[in-house]
Amino acid sequence: MPSMCTSYMCPFSHLICPHFLLYMTCFRSLLTPVEVWNPTNQARNPHDHRRSTMAAANAFTSASMSCAPSLSGSVNVIAVCPRSVAAARTLSSSCLRPVRCAAVGTAAPVAATAEGDERRFEQLAVPPELVDELVEEALVWCSQHGLVVGDKNHPRSGKAPGVGLLHAPFALLPMSFPKVYWEQALELAPLFNELVHRVSLDGDFLQQTLARTKEVDPFTRRLLDIHSKMMELNKKEDIQLGLTRSDYMIDGATDKLLQVELNTISTSSNGLACGVSELHRNLIRHHQRELGLDPTSVVGNTAIAQHAEALATAWAEYNNQSAVVLVVVQAEERYMYDQYWITVALREMYGVTTIRKTMAEIEAEGDLRPDGTLVINGRPVAIVYFRAGYSPADYPSEAEWRARLLIERSSAIKCPSIAHHLVGTKKIQQELAKENVLERFLDNQSDIENVRKCFAGLWSLENDIIVNSAIESPELFVLKPQREGGGNNIYGDNLRETLIRLRKDGSNETAAYILMQRIFPPASPSYLVREGTFVRDNVVSEFGIFGAYLRNNDKVIINDQCGYLLRTKAASLNEGGVVAGYAFLNSIFLT
Ligand code: ADP
Ligand code: MG
Repeated sequence: MPSMCTSYMCPFSHLICPHFLLYMTCFRSLLTPVEVWNPTNQARNPHDHRRSTMAAANAFTSASMSCAPSLSGSVNVIAVCPRSVAAARTLSSSCLRPVRCAAVGTAAPVAATAEGDERRFEQLAVPPELVDELVEEALVWCSQHGLVVGDKNHPRSGKAPGVGLLHAPFALLPMSFPKVYWEQALELAPLFNELVHRVSLDGDFLQQTLARTKEVDPFTRRLLDIHSKMMELNKKEDIQLGLTRSDYMIDGATDKLLQVELNTISTSSNGLACGVSELHRNLIRHHQRELGLDPTSVVGNTAIAQHAEALATAWAEYNNQSAVVLVVVQAEERYMYDQYWITVALREMYGVTTIRKTMAEIEAEGDLRPDGTLVINGRPVAIVYFRAGYSPADYPSEAEWRARLLIERSSAIKCPSIAHHLVGTKKIQQELAKENVLERFLDNQSDIENVRKCFAGLWSLENDIIVNSAIESPELFVLKPQREGGGNNIYGDNLRETLIRLRKDGSNETAAYILMQRIFPPASPSYLVREGTFVRDNVVSEFGIFGAYLRNNDKVIINDQCGYLLRTKAASLNEGGVVAGYAFLNSIFLT
């Protein structure tokens, strides 16, 4: 397959707009060194990537030490704000301001310090006099480099590409991020990939663990019904492809990296996350003198390059040159540009064609050939890549469920299969955190310990002691239904009332939820930019490591980490998620 040999060094000119090329040609001499975002142009070999991030970390250490003398007393230089949450709390809550006439936030920025706090995890501070300029430069950069989403105020922005575009929400500068957490999360990625796969093979475990949930949650029931049909048919997936993302927060009280959740379906933001790290590098490079920061300490993001590689390699394993990758999408998708980064990479770098279809369209246009090949309007499908199908809203009628069953019955590679999808449910996450359950799936004791170390407290509502504690101190818990996509969890007074109601009813509905320890990451002030305006707020962050797992029968072809997503949100918010409208894209400045 010749197109698979296309080098990662191929120029990125395919993927950037002509205006930008013109800009680059005219102003090339002003840019030293020239650096253009192309998420497909990252290191192909993950080990190279690791080496480069390590080099970046070292570069930062020496840069910060050497810059230290000039930082003290300099009016222009602001570096990392202090860790003190108390100090951050004194900030007044912010309001959106137009960029041009913006007033700068009230809290005085804190001067840079070269003192080494290896566990520091905070937003890099922005010198107040630089804010307007940085925001404007960033907005221009986003527009010229596809760091965009559909504008919800434009009626067609979720339906037609190129209509009603808006920059994606972002934090103005990256977050300082201790290497120790970064390395821990990278090491966990292949373990979680393998864990997902092994759990997915244990159909009885999935069915039994979700049996009570199934009785009270119709969405989980429908997924489980498809899963049991596949078990009855003894359906075997020869080629398994998982594009995962394990999300974490740093717990401020214990300094521990704790897992929020493990996503196995529609892991999004792989495209835009690549863009924001390049945006931050670009801003820091252009203002290196004023900021006193090393742009190479912003960790480059390989998510698109590696996810495209995983999809292309899976496509090659399927071994049908005329087959396409079917991207399952929602009928209205304002996040389509994030998805286009990967489909364009597949086309430009590997010559693999993708088609986008909703579940309803798949039902109308799809069929199975006698040999199990899924065809859409007569075109064979090698991979079904779900960027929808994770929420009840994606199944408004029986047609969508028929489509899901059709896909599952086919020989196409499912990303994910129904079993992989179910492994990502909150209930399975909670079950895996129980004593001796990981041991069923992982053999190596140190792997088991490493995985367990990142588990937060997770409980079923059968645990009376925990339910009592949650009713007493709801602020210390999160109540989670079996849902994905953000905006579904229950917090605070609602959590208490829900638990009291469930207890009074004595209903089985308790099985629809799990309880989780609330994680409180360290908070620090940051400038957040949305819809062309910025806000200065006190923020916390959640970071995710993408993974890829490709297996053909007994042969594991890929099992690796694949770049990252850092999301930052106001500390006062409960929920997170960029698509859900709570969080802002951010990047990692390794310390
Ligand atoms: P979803 O599948 O909807 O993304 P998550 O479990 O990721 O569900 O929860 C959504 C958001 O809620 C997260 O992005 C995070 O901001 C917040 N959240 C979830 N669990 C916790 C927790 N244990 N502690 C603090 N915040 C949490
Ligand atoms: Mg989540």
